[in-house]
Amino acid sequence: MTDSYGGYRARLVEALREQGIRDMAVLRAFGETPRHLFVPEALRRRAYDDAALPIGHGQTISQPSTQAQYLGALDLQGRERVLEVGTGSGYQAALLSHLVPRVVSVECVRELAEQAMAALAAAGVQNVLVIAGDGSLGWRPEAPYDAVLVSAASPAVPEPLLHQLAEGGKLVVPIQRGSTQELVRVVRRGDTFAHDHLGEAHFVPLRGRHGFPQGEA
Ligand code: SAH
Repeated sequence: MTDSYGGYRARLVEALREQGIRDMAVLRAFGETPRHLFVPEALRRRAYDDAALPIGHGQTISQPSTQAQYLGALDLQGRERVLEVGTGSGYQAALLSHLVPRVVSVECVRELAEQAMAALAAAGVQNVLVIAGDGSLGWRPEAPYDAVLVSAASPAVPEPLLHQLAEGGKLVVPIQRGSTQELVRVVRRGDTFAHDHLGEAHFVPLRGRHGFPQGEA
């Protein structure tokens, strides 16, 4: 990726490294993904800050260090089929596109889904399918998934996403508990699902059938 933002990108990678992100493939993905194409034009100056930024429709592009933590929790090996719930800007999907061969990403706000598709195309990403719809239901046509990331806080782990996990598959989802959120990882072994907790999270609420009704949370 050669553009005038290369120096900023290198600094972002350095900042992530200083925060303890060690996964080389993840760091490389941040070095190769043009985040400025995924933020509104007026905010491009700040595109490589380690900060969440508004993307319209009351939504945000998540903080890079949070996304790096997420990717680390999935421990991707490079062969997985991945489902993302909450495309938002499309940036996380673009990062994933460097790490795995296939990404399906579902976004419930149609305008954001369309914006994300345009940004992904501008970034030259070809292995991400963006669907406009309710991602709390997953996306059956391409299931099962080796990894599922939910980029919005949910009242509980959405059932359909568990059913769409492959054997040994991992799901990462922020769960809302009162006024705080906790990042939870679920690993599937046959019909059992092992949970572990990865610390605090800060995400916008999940909507849709298995999310929060509009106006709540
Ligand atoms: N990963 C994104 C940030 C996601 S913000 C990025 O890299 O920019 C969370 C997104 O989840 C918002 O865009 C919101 O509209 C979307 N969302 C919330 N509930 C959803 C649902 N049920 N299905 C699909 N998308 C949902």
